[in-house]
Amino acid sequence: MRDKRHDLLFEPVQIGPVTAKNRFYQVPHCTGLGWLRPRMLAALRGMKAEGGWGVVCTEWCSIHPASDDLPHPNASLWNDEDIKNHALMTEAVHRHGALAGVELWIGGARTANLYTREVPMDVASMPNLAGHAYQSRAMDKSDIRELRRWHRNAALRAKAAGFDVVYVYATHGYLLSHFLSAETNTRSDEYGGSMENRARLLRELIEDTKDAVGDQCAVAVRYSVGGDDGEDPSLTNERRDRLEMLAELPDLWDININNYYQEMGVSRFIKEGSLEEHMSFVKSVTTKPVVTVGRFTSPDTMASQIKRGIVDFIGAARPSIADPFLPKKIEEGRLEEIRECIGCNICYTGDGLGVPIRCTQNPTMGEEWRRGWHPEFIAKKGSESSVLVIGAGPAGLEATRALGQRGYRVTLAEATRELGGRVTRESKLPGLSEWQRVRDYRLQQIDVMPNVEVFRESELSVDEVLAVEADHIVFATGAAWRADGFGRSNLHPLTTLSPGARILTPDDVMAGHLPDGPTVIFDDDSFYMGGVIAEQVRRANVPVALVTPENVVSAWCEYTSEQYQVQKHLLELGVEIKTAHSLLAYDGREVTISCTHTGRQQSIKADALIMVTARRPRDELYQNLNRRMESGAQTPFRSVRRIGDCEAPAIIAAAVHSGHRYARELDTEPDPDVPLRLE
Ligand code: ADP
Ligand code: SF4
Repeated sequence: MRDKRHDLLFEPVQIGPVTAKNRFYQVPHCTGLGWLRPRMLAALRGMKAEGGWGVVCTEWCSIHPASDDLPHPNASLWNDEDIKNHALMTEAVHRHGALAGVELWIGGARTANLYTREVPMDVASMPNLAGHAYQSRAMDKSDIRELRRWHRNAALRAKAAGFDVVYVYATHGYLLSHFLSAETNTRSDEYGGSMENRARLLRELIEDTKDAVGDQCAVAVRYSVGGDDGEDPSLTNERRDRLEMLAELPDLWDININNYYQEMGVSRFIKEGSLEEHMSFVKSVTTKPVVTVGRFTSPDTMASQIKRGIVDFIGAARPSIADPFLPKKIEEGRLEEIRECIGCNICYTGDGLGVPIRCTQNPTMGEEWRRGWHPEFIAKKGSESSVLVIGAGPAGLEATRALGQRGYRVTLAEATRELGGRVTRESKLPGLSEWQRVRDYRLQQIDVMPNVEVFRESELSVDEVLAVEADHIVFATGAAWRADGFGRSNLHPLTTLSPGARILTPDDVMAGHLPDGPTVIFDDDSFYMGGVIAEQVRRANVPVALVTPENVVSAWCEYTSEQYQVQKHLLELGVEIKTAHSLLAYDGREVTISCTHTGRQQSIKADALIMVTARRPRDELYQNLNRRMESGAQTPFRSVRRIGDCEAPAIIAAAVHSGHRYARELDTEPDPDVPLRLE
């Protein structure tokens, strides 16, 4: 039964001409799908509605070819074909009684229009803000008139597609935010100068949209109240005054701050409900419903936000990705079943890379249509077989959980006392504590399954594996960081490492073996690990130099939106950073590195070297058993498989997906030539 304190989350809320059935609001978020993959998108959004979200929105949706974001796959409402594509989504959302929202978008100087080759337009001629070698055209009056017409037509197409909430998108550094800002708006006509003039275009677009679709659709404005790190207080004050000026114009305010990377920061730097301090005044200046985000996963925090009058809706992107059924679970009082977001931002990498979304916690994310996976339901077992899962990291735990859910008899054996494998170890590193939710969600589920047995401190040998007499054996034994220098820069072990030298790996540091003198970290991995290991060691008051062949620290963290925070953080901690250098040798006293551009060498004195380069699969046991099977010897089992890092070391999301897929496909016969539906 639902906790009474959470009842208020299920109150209906009116938004202009439409009513949301509850206060759960999936705000616009990218998926890496956009106009390229409409069926996958419709199934994904429909799943959110099935999971109980009262409002489900699209990603940023272009109103015209003059606003195109490829290789980042945005949605679009340019023509009738787009209307049909969006109708797939609105129908899927309406089927479950939710409202469908669309975020109409004009990129301005942030888009180079690489796909359409239209000239980007903005308040002034300015360099492309995503770093491309293009500049925008300064909009003249006829451009502004055209833009209003495009926006109006897109709003009409949105209505035709069945949307209930239509956005005017005025933040995140896109065109409208440049009109609003005194810093970027240098115009001398009636669209520049005073605060009123700079807000003129936004006001006109809100009025145009209301006029076009307001009889049937609510008009929402996504708006930044600012106040984030480093913003001049006068700019923040003006954002607030302007909100007050426009307060009653739209039907809903979707509020965030100016710095996107802070607003949706990783849990390493930003915790739940972080926007509250910026939000607190908003409801005092408008009578319209207000929504914001905050990576809310705790129903108590959500209820408190409503009760204290901070917001009317609980906005979510990531919590709805990690658990599309979050509202349903709260509604039915099944709080222990909530799959809480860990704030790793792997979901966001799809947008940057131009590929479909994935999620560490929810392996079915993005697979709803093409693989037909449901986040809550799974086919019953296909036989009476038993399964032995070896290793209780994310891959083994997810395989066990999903096999258990299917009804198989499962034995899970883990070598160590602690379950969770790498997530347990890594969650003890600075800032990563929320990552243990990957383990906790799965253990919570497994604990109540009578058909699953878990054995800790059970490091299995080949004979012990055979003695279990399971029908299927799956190795989820993970991988170990290498100490020999092998990695992207050196695709062979280095022969220039002195045998007596103190060389450590992230596994050593996680096991508590910290160096006590000056240390060099060679980060050839370039994701988060090098940075967190540097922080861990630096916090022990040891001088640390981090060497990376990339031009910035933790380069891949660009995709998870945290790269600039990592670099800033490490510099503030006093970590010396050496970019564009590769490791050549270490003799126990000096580490020799060379510039990746010039080959120029230099030495750094160091008592220890930590290698963050590559991992080696822990698969000896698998290889032995597999050989037995292949030799045709009489074996008591029917299949042997390896999954997760034991198969191919990768991100945690890949291990969870691998375990899930194994469980889904057991006793099925997927056609190896048609593994996916592609539309
Ligand atoms: P993944 O990310 O693929 O899930 P992890 O490295 O997180 O991999 O987890 C692998 C787990 O397997 C670790 O907890 C490790 O202790 C366990 N393990 C490794 N070898 C054995 C073995 N022979 N028997 C049982 N457990 C093992
Ligand atoms: Fe949360 Fe990570 Fe999933 Fe994104 S990928 S929703 S941040 S758990």
